[in-house]
Amino acid sequence: MSGRRPLVAGNWKMNKTGAEAREHCVRLRELLPGEPAAEVAVCPPFTAIEAAAEALAGTPVWVAGQNVNEAAWGARTGEISAPMLLAAGASGVIVGHSERRAMGETDAQVAARVRAALDHGLRVILCVGESLGQREAGETEAWVTGQVRAGLAGVERAETARLAIAYEPIWAIGTGRTATPEMAQEAGAMVRAVAGERVDAPSLLVLYGGSVTPENAADLLRERDVDGALVGGASLDPEGFARIVSTAA
Ligand code: PEP
Repeated sequence: MSGRRPLVAGNWKMNKTGAEAREHCVRLRELLPGEPAAEVAVCPPFTAIEAAAEALAGTPVWVAGQNVNEAAWGARTGEISAPMLLAAGASGVIVGHSERRAMGETDAQVAARVRAALDHGLRVILCVGESLGQREAGETEAWVTGQVRAGLAGVERAETARLAIAYEPIWAIGTGRTATPEMAQEAGAMVRAVAGERVDAPSLLVLYGGSVTPENAADLLRERDVDGALVGGASLDPEGFARIVSTAA
């Protein structure tokens, strides 16, 4: 890490009801210091955003959605818009998670969703990352830089402060197989460099995601171009998540 304030975000994926979210966030309030040195966000499923936001009101922890549609309203069954996220209490959103891309979300949609989220005042955590096959074929750089360029196509330099990019190698997500700190650093530096074509590289937050745990967080977060973590499975346990936050801080 450098002078950038780290961000630790917990992606709960399709876990926790509203009541469970409330209980989890009340516990987080107890565990986290009033002003954590790292920024903290939780990303509940849509139906639990309101409960999480209510339970975290008055704390610096912010709430983010896990996806957003590029349109503000309309005939899009099953989708959620940026104004709806804001109304539910979210102030940010994950865009382009590999689990969404695997369901058919394209680079063009990701770019439109990033733009829509920023236009409505949401913060964005843009996810990029290669598959195991791509890494083994030596295609990581071409793939990841392509995703970064595509996702940032409509972003302005002045919006850098509302953006974080999470490098999440697909082979490390939910597998228990974490990238080495060297891999995370190499990819983080690459993401920062290519993002610098559109945004302010030195101040951009570049996160690592993929089987981060309280045990491996310190080694990953020590790296210069790892400004925090997007945490999936380990974020479901408030104690473990709070330990990762304190490591980042
Ligand atoms: C994620 O879903 O963004 C993620 C990183 O998951 P996990 O930490 O479980 O690998």
